[in-house]
Amino acid sequence: MRKTYRLFKLMNNGNLVRMGTKAATLALNMHLPVKGLIKQTIYQQFCGGEDLQETVRVLNELEQYNVSAILDYGVEGKESEAEFKRTCDQLIHTLQFAGTQRNVPYISCKVTGITRFDLLAKISSGETLSAAESAEKKKLYDRMFSIAEAAQKAGIGLYVDAEETWIQDAVDNLVFELMRTFNRQKAVVFSTPQMYRHDRLEFCKRSLADAQEHGYILGLKPVRGAYMEKERRRAAEKGYPSPIQVDKAATDRDYDAVLNLALDHLDRIAICAATHNEKSSMLLAEGTVRRGVEPGHPHVHFSQLYGMSDHITFNLAQSGFHVSKYLPYGPVKDVIPYLIRRAQENTSVAGSMSRELSLIYKEIKRRAL
Ligand SMILES: Cc1cc2nc3c(=O)[nH]c(=O)nc-3n(C[C@H](O)[C@H](O)[C@H](O)COP(=O)(O)OP(=O)(O)OC[C@H]3O[C@@H](n4cnc5c(N)ncnc54)[C@H](O)[C@@H]3O)c2cc1C
Repeated sequence: MRKTYRLFKLMNNGNLVRMGTKAATLALNMHLPVKGLIKQTIYQQFCGGEDLQETVRVLNELEQYNVSAILDYGVEGKESEAEFKRTCDQLIHTLQFAGTQRNVPYISCKVTGITRFDLLAKISSGETLSAAESAEKKKLYDRMFSIAEAAQKAGIGLYVDAEETWIQDAVDNLVFELMRTFNRQKAVVFSTPQMYRHDRLEFCKRSLADAQEHGYILGLKPVRGAYMEKERRRAAEKGYPSPIQVDKAATDRDYDAVLNLALDHLDRIAICAATHNEKSSMLLAEGTVRRGVEPGHPHVHFSQLYGMSDHITFNLAQSGFHVSKYLPYGPVKDVIPYLIRRAQENTSVAGSMSRELSLIYKEIKRRAL
């Protein structure tokens, strides 16, 4: 607990996170011996291990508390064909591994792990693709279809993560096709609406209409969104209106609205509330109970990132809800972008302690009484 406290205290300092981010990236690129230090600290807090076997210790620990895991092969931002193929194979391997475990009902993936970011941006922009780009797009579709097929065969769900807005249309269209194909009997494939976007509540309603029209279960894993500063910066630089909500209250309002939408259509929507927000988690938990739906309903799921908000995870599990930790695994150098996002998320806002830090601080004080 004290080690975790010290780590979150360090991350609370914005300047330190900015400097540390640059120093760690540089040191790894220069092959300096910093891997051990990163692995013993921030990596250990947020990741399950460098390979699947290493994650088993964490999986077993979570199982003791009826908590499951979403395995996430945390490699992102790759650019070569050989790396895309390796990631695709690894995702299929992860699904097969998940099928052998008692508490891994889902895995997650990033489309940028298996194709070029610029290709997704071009598809999203609506520009005409060259013959070579069309062939790349076909390869992407073939790969995602074989991953979804492996998920269905292993009886495991596939969460497709959301990333930057300017590649998201390409990802969404692909995910719609996957859901229309694989979600006929149960939700295998899940899309991720980022509710910090002001257009996503409408998107979720359109998604529901698509599921009703095509007769499939809509898999939704709403998040608030992890790229807010980058989105605002790009919009300002390029001179287009920001896709981000005007304020946090608007994000919260739409996040909760999508949970209510799911509660109203549990026959058609399988929801995973991927959040550390206590109010949103309570809303879904209480809404489920109030409607007389049993807590273990297969369409109601909660998830928090491994290393964060254990109080929400373990209380929900104890009350009989399906709840999991999002557990990235992979080589230390490959999960650095993920770790940077976690460090940034846990820096102080306007000088006050980050939420995780103040929770740990309160718990240390409670235990000292
Ligand atoms: C299981 C899981 C899967 C995830 N997958 C993804 C993913 O695929 N893609 C992704 O982008 N993120 C993903 N995330 C990360 C998620 O977006 C962040 O954890 C989340 O932003 C933190 O929000 P919160 O709901 O936990 O709670 P809160 O702490 O209540 O909300 C913080 C969030 O609110 C939003 N916000 C803050 N200030 C403002 C403002 N001024 N205006 C508008 N909005 C504001 C931002 O999104 C900020 O991150 C995932 C998280 C979990 C738990």
